[in-house]
Amino acid sequence: MAKYVFITGGVVSSLGKGITAASIGTLLKKRGFRVSIIKVDPYLNVDAGTMNPFQHGEVFVTDDGSETDLDLGHYERFIDESLGSENTITTGKIYSRVIEKERRGVYLGGTVQVIPHITNDIQDRLVAAGDGRDIVIVEIGGTVGDIEGLPFLEAIRQMSSRVGRENVMYCHVTLIPWLEAAKELKTKPTQHSVGELRRIGILPNLLICRTSHAMTEDMKNKIALFCTVPPEAVIEVMDEPTIYNVPMSLHRQSVDDLILKTFSEPRGEEPDLSDWIGIVDRFMNAPKTVEIALVGKYIQHKDAYLSVVEALYHAGISHNVKVKVRSVESTDVEEKGVDAMLSGVDGILIPGGFGNRGIEGKIATVRYAREKKLPLLGICLGMQMMVIEFARNVCHLAGAHSQEMDPATVHPVIHLMDEQVGIDKLGGTMRLGAYNCDLVPGTRAQIAYGTDKISERHRHRYEFNNTYKQRLEDAGLKVSGVCEGRDLVEIVELPEHPWFVGGQFHGELKSRPTRPHPLFKAFVGASIENK
Ligand code: GLN
Repeated sequence: MAKYVFITGGVVSSLGKGITAASIGTLLKKRGFRVSIIKVDPYLNVDAGTMNPFQHGEVFVTDDGSETDLDLGHYERFIDESLGSENTITTGKIYSRVIEKERRGVYLGGTVQVIPHITNDIQDRLVAAGDGRDIVIVEIGGTVGDIEGLPFLEAIRQMSSRVGRENVMYCHVTLIPWLEAAKELKTKPTQHSVGELRRIGILPNLLICRTSHAMTEDMKNKIALFCTVPPEAVIEVMDEPTIYNVPMSLHRQSVDDLILKTFSEPRGEEPDLSDWIGIVDRFMNAPKTVEIALVGKYIQHKDAYLSVVEALYHAGISHNVKVKVRSVESTDVEEKGVDAMLSGVDGILIPGGFGNRGIEGKIATVRYAREKKLPLLGICLGMQMMVIEFARNVCHLAGAHSQEMDPATVHPVIHLMDEQVGIDKLGGTMRLGAYNCDLVPGTRAQIAYGTDKISERHRHRYEFNNTYKQRLEDAGLKVSGVCEGRDLVEIVELPEHPWFVGGQFHGELKSRPTRPHPLFKAFVGASIENK
């Protein structure tokens, strides 16, 4: 039977629970255990698909097409496994299933309640996720004390009865704030937050203390005493120069040992962290820097392009260069001009996005990269803008547009296909999750991947319009990837340009620190050459 590590958060949000969960996953996987990780988000949205990146950062997409919280991206990058719908639970998902069962009469006239129906549904999902795994890590989003988190905390408390006390443990990530005026770290908020956990029947086994200053032994002993944990289970995690250092920081403090000891599991061999140590070393000590402009529209939110930025870092690590990202708001390109925003960069990346705002700034950016022969990687919306710019300025297809920008356009080079129209109220179904794509031999894309068939993740509504394919190809745009078994253009490139490649999919979602994404790697490589 699987064992469960539950991770809760205290005092404030944004303490890095996701990175903590992911890092514990790395350590346990490296110890040879079959690990899975689940994110619980106590909001009412059924999934993250409808959420604005300004509020929650990027929407991560899994192979099975689930639109999830960005923490799933951290999990995949840290445990190097593809996750899916069973790895993400929201209040909306739980309630929809329970209410749907109630409507079908499954509860046979009983009163349907938060306890036991909602809490049982949560536990059923946790138990199902343990199938074929040794250890399941479950991160509960939000902070202890939030009203919407309560049913989940109750469910994980009950899990100790359901699967046995010896098979569960609770890890609380908390803040030890530094008071500048007193020049002191303060433990009281942590005591309160552990008190709150205890009030609902959860006694933490492990405390991960986030702090900006080193804690003294006395302080750790005090926390241990007040919070009823052994002193060695009070772990200090300071801010790291890179998140990829966290597994090593936890391992140095024997967190993996402590977890296995709690579960009475044999501790076996030391985990081999040499690849992770190498990643951090290369990231920190790269001798050269390459500057990439990221021209997007949710630039103010630091996590809106999280996986894109991580994928650039991974590519940099593999080339032994530091990637410096210049975040450029595409509306600023419209207002201040391409030169003001883009001059001096070594390469340009245009990421995905929805809606009209900033679109012309992206098209102007494509033109700049094409004419100045700067390496350009277009992702999803970015690829669509590459097609429009080429249609307008090279094919002279006046008024070439995306239907998303102007539903009445005369030249919709990017469009909704007939079979999509009117399917939902947004005007079309989304293509979500993994699709296979055939690559054209000898193209930049095919050389970058080094294979003829790839699988990549999608999240978009609009498609390349094949009506214009011949015309665009005749003018020099090369279609280098096509969806397997379907007449859908997935990758375009310009053979006459140093490196100009756009993909309809989100390659960043599959990039891992140890295995950079081939297009990102080739793009950063071309940007280095361009320097
Ligand atoms: N808005 C575009 C579409 O729906 C692109 C989506 C994206 O970049 N993820 O097709």
